[in-house]
Amino acid sequence: MISRILPLLFLLVASSGAHAFELLTEPVSDDAYALVGEIGPRTYENHALNNTLGFVVTPDGVVLISAGASPSGARLIEAAVARVTRQPIRWVINVGAQDHHWLGNSYFAAHGAEVIALARTVATQHDHADNHLERLHRVLKDRAADVRPAYASRVLDSDHATLQLGGRTFELIWPGDGHFPGDAILWLPAEKLVFTGDLVFHDRMLGIHPFSPVADWQKSFHVMAALGPEHVVPGHGHPGDLAKARRDTGDYLDWLIKNVGQALADWKELEETVEMLADAPQFKHLKFYDSWHRRNIHQTYLQLEAAQ
Ligand SMILES: [Zn+2]
Repeated sequence: MISRILPLLFLLVASSGAHAFELLTEPVSDDAYALVGEIGPRTYENHALNNTLGFVVTPDGVVLISAGASPSGARLIEAAVARVTRQPIRWVINVGAQDHHWLGNSYFAAHGAEVIALARTVATQHDHADNHLERLHRVLKDRAADVRPAYASRVLDSDHATLQLGGRTFELIWPGDGHFPGDAILWLPAEKLVFTGDLVFHDRMLGIHPFSPVADWQKSFHVMAALGPEHVVPGHGHPGDLAKARRDTGDYLDWLIKNVGQALADWKELEETVEMLADAPQFKHLKFYDSWHRRNIHQTYLQLEAAQ
């Protein structure tokens, strides 16, 4: 009898385990890793970890880039880091103001980490906190019960701050606004590695919101590219090189500004412009092309028209 039950139990355990969401750990350069979350939307199952985070292991502890959207997500991040190193997470750097970059701060702060961010990033976090909390409660339900906004304990009143953490040099840079105003990038000059936050989307189409100043975003991308990174860990998608960042984000921003700008110069109407530009085969490899491309043309048109 037991011999019949055991395989069944094993199957049940194996199948329940198969559905648990895990971040994918991808080595990037010496002691630096990307933690790749869901490429798709936020869900209860993925703990709203539909973004890419990163970490760097130093002899004095781990530097974590982005904190996830909740304490439950933070525990998954902590578990992923623990599979690579026994070092504790000692510093958390917030490179953005969107929920999944910072609403897990409270968990890491309670476990002894210092949370670091630029003042500009913190200001935008304050602006969007209520809205993001409300949305998170709808998605995460009981898992959102303990989400509390916890802001950086070390706020840097600078647009280009150099940090020495665990014997390594990190530069926290505001390259100009992007997906959210005040978003930052983290540059490791010795490794030529950049954690871009939501400045760069890989593998999926970026989304331009009314609060995402697209002309600034385009310029900010070029500021990042001018650093000459060899490794790019994006805010969404798998890590890659600068050529990939250009293909999936920079070229698209350039294309939008150029083509929507030309349509406006030609006095095309909004609807006409969206129809005219709806087919852009060079970006169809990006996930969510169908749901985001037209919206992005629409939003770019409104922003460029308002700036005229
Ligand atoms: Zn994001």
